[in-house]
Amino acid sequence: MSDCIFCKIVAKEIPGETVYEDDQVLAIKDINPQAPVHLLLITKKHITSLNEVSSEDEGLMGHILMLAQKLAQKFGVAESGYRVVTNIGKEGGQAVPHLHFHVLGGKALGVHID
Ligand code: IMP
Repeated sequence: MSDCIFCKIVAKEIPGETVYEDDQVLAIKDINPQAPVHLLLITKKHITSLNEVSSEDEGLMGHILMLAQKLAQKFGVAESGYRVVTNIGKEGGQAVPHLHFHVLGGKALGVHID
């Protein structure tokens, strides 16, 4: 997707603060962090949102959740607790239409959902 900002970060056409990379996923620090630890786990494959995930992506989904667990440990929030979230579509608050999971931690997160 030539006009997708996360595709451009994956392709290194625009910079991102990479914290982890493999053949399926790029993890970067969020540019506008909402918590002391705020990572974005971005699929290298362009998938618009969780709505567009198909059965062929099952392995990728398992991989990205296991990676969230590993990065939470690496960034020191596994014991204290953290949040993994993906926003979907307009009313889900998704600003970037390329599948990504937020990993947030390092402070007591609110329980509100809006
Ligand atoms: P969404 O609302 O779930 O789509 O989240 C998009 C996230 O991407 C927001 O938390 C933004 O701060 C973050 N973001 C947007 N552009 C960049 C960037 O260039 N680098 C890192 N994070 C970004």
